[in-house]
Amino acid sequence: MDTNIQQLIRDVPDFPQPGVVFRDITPVLAHPDGLDTLIEGLSAPFMGIGIALVVGIESRGFILGAPVARQLNCGFVPVRKPGKLPCATYSVEYALEYGTDRLEMHQDAIAPGQRVLIVDDVIATGGTAGAAAKLIDQAGGKLAGFAFAIELMFLNGRQNLPENVPVVSLLSYS
Ligand code: AMP
Repeated sequence: MDTNIQQLIRDVPDFPQPGVVFRDITPVLAHPDGLDTLIEGLSAPFMGIGIALVVGIESRGFILGAPVARQLNCGFVPVRKPGKLPCATYSVEYALEYGTDRLEMHQDAIAPGQRVLIVDDVIATGGTAGAAAKLIDQAGGKLAGFAFAIELMFLNGRQNLPENVPVVSLLSYS
């Protein structure tokens, strides 16, 4: 069952803007063994280390994060774009190439000291995942790791993540 997921990733040039190669995981999601391999690969490094919650970043982090949480027998917490969550939130602003964006998480989603794993499809500059890490910090959670399907090495995204926290990426593009 160990499907080669790299072969299933579709490269889409100039999306969403000229010069960007979008790494589209939808063919992996649509392939039963591809999806299984992806979820297994993201979960396996974090088995048995007491992860209490998986945090998934809107929106592809939701698709991957919830099944990873099932694998780890733990809960799932969504980190969302502004204005989507109905109750009191923590909020973090982060830099984009042009301007800023913001992510939010329910204040009661994580209890102090709970061990948390952040999941997303792609780490590019690391701004998004770094902002999610700050939300976990605001809630008093203990960040135990990051799991990404794809890492764009040339953007050095790990520089924007906290030091000494394990980072797993299944596929690297240089
Ligand atoms: P960043 O904050 O720069 O690390 O960007 C990460 C977010 O943007 C992730 O949630 C990705 O889904 C998305 N993203 C950035 N670059 C790409 C890319 N080349 N292909 C697909 N998704 C991307």
